[in-house]
Amino acid sequence: MSAGERIGARNITLTQGAHEVGSDLSSVVELDIGVERPALFKEKGEAVLFGMAMGLAVGRKKEGGMTGFGQIEGLESGGLDLSSRIHLLGDEEEKLNPVRALSGYASWGLEHLREYYYAGTKYEISKVAQILSGPAILCSGCGAMISGDDSLEECPKCGILVG
Ligand SMILES: [Zn+2]
Repeated sequence: MSAGERIGARNITLTQGAHEVGSDLSSVVELDIGVERPALFKEKGEAVLFGMAMGLAVGRKKEGGMTGFGQIEGLESGGLDLSSRIHLLGDEEEKLNPVRALSGYASWGLEHLREYYYAGTKYEISKVAQILSGPAILCSGCGAMISGDDSLEECPKCGILVG
């Protein structure tokens, strides 16, 4: 893949779980009768990019997203410029099939978001965004993605000393 080449977002394949989280994040959710939570991302593709950033931050992928959830609304027209992220990919296999690799990172990220940063109806997007602004690590105790700046301190999720 040459620099600047655009990858169609239609080629992204997500796991079932990640697909659901992505839809949830980009939809208005009725919390109660007459009470709505606005969509956290304008388009599903933005949620997918967020998940991708999470996966890339800690080098975790979840494969198996072979079901074609590729028609990500709002992005299929122009294609998504992922080429700027290709340099973050590790081995040659990933570079040969970047869409598959990026799909795996996105699937991992979105599922992780649901597992660790979702409470009832609320996703802690701003907290995760803050973690992503610096080095991120996985807590050796609970497995949550936390800020690397928290190392040698207590994991905010489970309270064990990390580092
Ligand atoms: Zn922890």
